[in-house]
Amino acid sequence: MNDAPDISTDEKTSVAALRELVERFVDERQWRKYHRPKNLAMSLAIEAAELMEHFQWLEHDQADAALAEPKARRQIAEEMADVLAYLLSLSTATEIDLSTALAEKMDRNAEKYPAELVRGHYKRPE
Ligand SMILES: [Mg+2]
Repeated sequence: MNDAPDISTDEKTSVAALRELVERFVDERQWRKYHRPKNLAMSLAIEAAELMEHFQWLEHDQADAALAEPKARRQIAEEMADVLAYLLSLSTATEIDLSTALAEKMDRNAEKYPAELVRGHYKRPE
C-alpha cells in the first residue's frame, strides 16, 4: 500500500499533505539537521530572488507574455515550488501553523486596510 501523501491540485490538497511531502523528502535524505529556521528563511529568500529574476526588467505585458510561454512558465512554476517547499519546511521547523498564521495576518490586514477606505488604491488610510 502506498502511504505517500495525497497530492493533486490546490483544490484537493491540504497544507498538511504538502508539508508531509516536503518532510518525507528531507527525512529520506537525513537533511533535517540542515533544515533549521535560519537556513530555511535564507533559502526561502534566495528562491524568491530566483523567481524574481524571471520578471526582472520586464514590463507587465512582457511578464504576462512570459507566463504564456511554456518553457518560461515551467521555470517560473519550479521557482514558485522552491519557495513553497522552503516555506513549508520552515513551518515544520518552527512549528508555526501556516493556516492559522495566514488567517490571523489577513484579519490584521483587514483592520489596517478597511476595504471602504482603500478600494481601488494602495494608499494607507490615515
Ligand atoms: Mg530555485
